Amino acid sequence: MIPVTSKPMTLDTKFVYTFGDGIAEGKAEMKNLLGGKGANLAEMVNLDLPVPPGFTITTDVCNHYYVNKQRLPLDLERQVYEAMQHIERIMRARFGDSDNPLLISVRSGARSSMPGMMDTILNLGLNDETVEGLIFRTNNPRFVYDSYRRFVQMYGDVVLGLKPENKDDIDPFEEILDAMKTKKRVKSDVELTADDLKLLVQQFKDVIKKKTGKKFPEDPHEQLWGAIGAVLNSWMNERAIAYRKMYDIPESWGTAVNVQAMVFGNMGERSGTGVAFTRNPATGEKLLYGEFLMNAQGEDIVAGIRTPLPIIELQQYDRNAHRDLRRICDTLEHHFKDMMDIEFTIQEGKLYMLQCRAGKRTSASALRIAVDMVKEKILHPEEALMRIEPNQLDQILRPVFDEAEKKRAVEQGHLLTKGLNAGPGAATGKVYFNAVDAVEHAKRGDVILVRIETSPEDIRGMNAAKGIVTARGGMTSHAALVARQMGKVCVVGCSELEIDYKNRTIKIPKKKLVVKEGDEISIDGTTGEVIVGKIKTKPSEVVSVLVEKSLKPAQAPIYQRYAQIMKWADEFRLLRIRANADQPDQCEHAVAFGAEGIGLCRTEHMFFGGNRIDAVREMILSETKEERAKALAKILPYQRQDFVEIFKVMGDRPVTIRTLDPPLHEFLPKTEAEIELLSKQMKVPKERIHRRLHQLHEMNPMLGFRGCRLGILFPEITEMQMKAIFEAAAIVRKKGIRAVPEVMIPFVGHVRELTLQKEIANRIAEQVMKEKSVRLQYLVGTMIEVPRAAITANEIAKVAEFFSFGTNDLTQLTAGLSRDDAGQFLPYYIDNNVYERDPFQSIDKNGVGKLMGMAVREGRNANGTLKIGICGEHGGDPATVEFCHSLGLNYVSCSPFRIPIARLAAARAVIAEKNIISPPMQTSALKSNVLPQQANKLSNAKRAILLKNSSLRRSKAMY
Ligand code: ADP
Ligand code: MG
Ligand code: MG
Repeated sequence: MIPVTSKPMTLDTKFVYTFGDGIAEGKAEMKNLLGGKGANLAEMVNLDLPVPPGFTITTDVCNHYYVNKQRLPLDLERQVYEAMQHIERIMRARFGDSDNPLLISVRSGARSSMPGMMDTILNLGLNDETVEGLIFRTNNPRFVYDSYRRFVQMYGDVVLGLKPENKDDIDPFEEILDAMKTKKRVKSDVELTADDLKLLVQQFKDVIKKKTGKKFPEDPHEQLWGAIGAVLNSWMNERAIAYRKMYDIPESWGTAVNVQAMVFGNMGERSGTGVAFTRNPATGEKLLYGEFLMNAQGEDIVAGIRTPLPIIELQQYDRNAHRDLRRICDTLEHHFKDMMDIEFTIQEGKLYMLQCRAGKRTSASALRIAVDMVKEKILHPEEALMRIEPNQLDQILRPVFDEAEKKRAVEQGHLLTKGLNAGPGAATGKVYFNAVDAVEHAKRGDVILVRIETSPEDIRGMNAAKGIVTARGGMTSHAALVARQMGKVCVVGCSELEIDYKNRTIKIPKKKLVVKEGDEISIDGTTGEVIVGKIKTKPSEVVSVLVEKSLKPAQAPIYQRYAQIMKWADEFRLLRIRANADQPDQCEHAVAFGAEGIGLCRTEHMFFGGNRIDAVREMILSETKEERAKALAKILPYQRQDFVEIFKVMGDRPVTIRTLDPPLHEFLPKTEAEIELLSKQMKVPKERIHRRLHQLHEMNPMLGFRGCRLGILFPEITEMQMKAIFEAAAIVRKKGIRAVPEVMIPFVGHVRELTLQKEIANRIAEQVMKEKSVRLQYLVGTMIEVPRAAITANEIAKVAEFFSFGTNDLTQLTAGLSRDDAGQFLPYYIDNNVYERDPFQSIDKNGVGKLMGMAVREGRNANGTLKIGICGEHGGDPATVEFCHSLGLNYVSCSPFRIPIARLAAARAVIAEKNIISPPMQTSALKSNVLPQQANKLSNAKRAILLKNSSLRRSKAMY
């Protein structure tokens, strides 16, 4: 269950924070305590924006509730009623009063938004008596009974648990409502009369009695505490738990509960409700973007029952409200310095704000908003960088549909429909109609999830799918919101589609088209097109400019914003960024994405091309040194040529080359035919090869004859590789390229291992330099991937000129986890929080990270000029990049397509650090990271930050 993370409760702990009438006890910075919704409601009140008064019950109460067998803290009741009086004073109405009743909403609100995952109850406080009072006050019985039936329904669904578990099952209240609409021959509930609604209330209450055996609670106080309990319980509902898992939200955060005076969008045609983004969340264009409905309340907008109107049309309904809305959005953007997502209600011409938060956006939109807001002087560049999630950059590198192919498909009549472009990108996959099927089939191939509309129950399916299509809902529907956050391709509001869950088909009667479950469709989330069949994709704009060079920057606005963001990131970051690349074309991509060197070139990847593998096998299966030398001589020219090509691409950037690493069995012939062929080539009997294969067999190759062990037992292998490297460097030197090879010895556990290999490297380097009469610049260093190497870093650093953390092996060996065998249990471990995150994706800071920290400290103590980097898969993970920055590493190395992510993450690490006092380890690391001559070259911005850091450090030391 939930561990208690907050400070212990005492008798005078404050559980309730009020807001209203220009004064709030909370503020935006208090999200941890008040949840995102509560903190921002308070902030909007402090900004003097029109917000109905209310109060927030803290997340501490939620934690207390779960730690104490779902009991509430003692003093809460008193504090709640005191705060209720605060609302009553401002609203001039009283909760439960039959003449002049105050109605409230009870709303959930976690620290980070979990759209639609938890529950909200509106119009609370109504009963058969207060209804009369409200009718008397408003003289609007239709509105009052509409509110009443909504309340009874929500209370029944949420508090009394009548909402069906499976959302495809029918809600009992909806069933009754539909029957009433049919009977009255109306399409929408807006057309129902006061009497119809009054009857509905009675029918709703009857169904509650029938299904729960209890009467609907007429007592407003019972209603209030029931609703508070239900909101707290919704923190532990299945979909909230699933959502938290997906977004790494700790259970211990808890939800706050917001109680707020109701304002009414359902009072008639001069009232309404809406949701909006201050800019377009798909493209970033600076235009108020959203939807509204007149004479409606709360969820009507997202429920897809009535089709909402685009916000621009609000002008025609209520000019003043539209003007106020725009003004408020402007205020919010300048105050929060971000694109905001807002919820509002208009009650008889007066606008009220009910929520605001930073808006979720696509990566293209994030780039545009960040760049534009700097232009508009809302943001400084360093703030703009903090507005873009590094991982999001992945989206703008993803392929898009080939336009010509798509056009052809459309001309051939394959266009199924066109909907709203809610989540940009291109996706092709097989159609499935529910989350369970989507998850199942996604294991075997790409899936497109097709739903009439999505709801929180569908998130697992949405996560598994490549793309999402819905028939109902607008740009702010659940599907659109969640898809954008997940970075999924998404098309919503395809109202032409007849989706039949039972027969598992999509039909468009007009076009006589039918798509069945398992059929392939292609969806274009940038244009909203849904097309039958598979369409070829092509590289994205950024990739077209940088890698393919098929587009000019001037034709590529997304690229231009990307380039601007990268330029800013480079000004701030201290870490250098390198790439893991083995081939010249990969190196080219890496440089295009901004790589400043190669951090890992795996020589064995070069062993597979063409007929090289034969020579490699010959080398491995040799029984004598002479035989081996003969085979190696065949490999040398290939390997040398590979390095020549790589050095040509990389110029004077450093290239880290790792000597042969994998266990030999990976290269050996497996089939009898291969063995036969090899025996002919080597001119040796088959039996000898079989015998040798038997000798080389290992029980546990991961810990076997691999890494530097190969080069130590067979020094001629290392000699050949060194020859290839240094001769290649000499060759390109003649062409004016000053290649800087960094020879990296893998799987070192003992300093002697490194010493032995380094001797070979130095000897061959000298030899080549003499032969070719050139001076070559090079380094010899080691991977730190065996725990013993990290532990003895002080010894190893005396021999090594650089360290590079091989965090894949280091994680395997530190945690005793074989990555190849972890599939059986690691997913369970992560689902059940044994490890919070996959340690192969993001560094396990408390385990592997500690070893790294120790190796950095001891290594630098022993060798002041030691260069340190990381080359494991982790190098492209933003959290790991930040961690590497804090350790004071010199560089991170990752796959070419993750380089933009690493550049941004490295800059953000510096910016995030600006406001905190560096812990001691970080301090010394930073010092050695910035050498004096390097510091001179720093831009003003960077120097400013460093100075700020160092002054913080000094002042801390003085006191
Ligand atoms: P969610 O977190 O799912 O968005 P909310 O608590 O924001 O849930 O409530 C959903 C909607 O209910 C709001 O967008 C708003 O339209 C309506 N609502 C909530 N509180 C009030 C209120 N005090 N007055 C009027 N409408 C409200
Ligand atoms: Mg909701
Ligand atoms: Mg909301």
